[in-house]
Amino acid sequence: MNKILVSGGAGFLGSHLCERLLHENNEVLCIDNLFTGEKKNIVHLFDNPYFEFLRHDVTFPLYVEVDKIYNLACPASPIHYQYDSAQTTKTSVLGAINMLGLAKRTGARILQASTSEVYGDPEIHPQPESYFGNVNPIGVRSCYDEGKRCAETLFFDYYRQYGIDIKVVRIFNTYGPNMNPDDGRVVSNFIVQALKGKDITIYGDGQQTRSFCYVDELVDGLIRMMRSDNGFTGPVNLGNPFEFTILELAEMIIKITGSASTIINKPLPSDDPRQRQPDISLAKDKLEWEPIVKLEDGLKDTIEYFKELIKK
Ligand code: NAD
Ligand code: UDP
Ligand code: UDP
Repeated sequence: MNKILVSGGAGFLGSHLCERLLHENNEVLCIDNLFTGEKKNIVHLFDNPYFEFLRHDVTFPLYVEVDKIYNLACPASPIHYQYDSAQTTKTSVLGAINMLGLAKRTGARILQASTSEVYGDPEIHPQPESYFGNVNPIGVRSCYDEGKRCAETLFFDYYRQYGIDIKVVRIFNTYGPNMNPDDGRVVSNFIVQALKGKDITIYGDGQQTRSFCYVDELVDGLIRMMRSDNGFTGPVNLGNPFEFTILELAEMIIKITGSASTIINKPLPSDDPRQRQPDISLAKDKLEWEPIVKLEDGLKDTIEYFKELIKK
């Protein structure tokens, strides 16, 4: 049995990943400080003897024996990563150092959950991995964007200096069940607002774009990357290349929910990227990975999840 550590395993993506890894007969050690993650997301795994949860902050060292490491620990929504921005950078940078130190000592393969935010407000569209990005180093989003960029730097330095077996994925906007209803991300915000009959809050004119990937397919991409041939380090983009304006997303959610909510406009936060769409040629080629779930279908499942959650 593989012993696999998932940092940030009680969060949205991490909880799906833990479940999938257990399902594939691995032993899973989930570590999380429960800043944005919740026990609710993993409580159904507690009865499994091959699942272990450890409340731990990745900015502190951790000595355990594992074969593989998925490093997902980091708040991912703007309101949460800006709540304690210095801590966000520490989580990305010190967390990467500690997880890489652990990989160095144990010889474990280690995957970093990086982000499309490393491209900032991109001037090249869609974004290939070769694009270096357009990131403001001193803005309100920088704690996240630059923290993740520095983590990538550390991963490649540990690879070059110590021969650590690294894998780096750049995740684009992902949605699905287990998203935190209060974390302020656009999909969860719009669904909760639509289900509660509240105003749908579009920031700016709604013409900014994002490309949304359903969580199951993203998790599949993470696992394929972890299993990929030695020598393929990435970085590799993982995301669904179909691009929508935020206004189109709002209209689709209103239509599916049959909500009477009305759309209102609020100020656009600073440094909000105008457009984002992954070029996934590399993932197709190296991982034979390509998402097929349509946004409308993925939203239906996600809406069902939130309906149940709101009832409770
Ligand atoms: P999330 O906020 O639901 O999960 C992050 C988890 O990390 C939470 O459980 C949180 O409690 C934990 N955490 C935060 N700081 C920690 C610390 N110092 N020590 C230990 N645990 C800590 O977010 P998510 O969407 O599941 O994102 C998971 C990872 O994927 C993040 O690294 C994020 O940057 C990356 N990512 C996600 C998306 C997306 O659309 N969901 C896009 C790009 C990148
Ligand atoms: N580290 C850890 N677990 C381990 C090995 C190392 O948390 O099993 C931490 C350690 O505390 C150190 C960091 O990882 O701060 C980087 O380790 P590395 O060996 O690269 O650096 P060094 O210990 O030489 O500073
Ligand atoms: N957004 C919005 N209304 C909301 C939440 C977000 O219009 O209630 C916009 C936000 O300004 C951004 C897009 O939706 O342009 C995606 O935001 P999210 O925070 O989900 O992800 P990110 O900006 O990190 O891609």
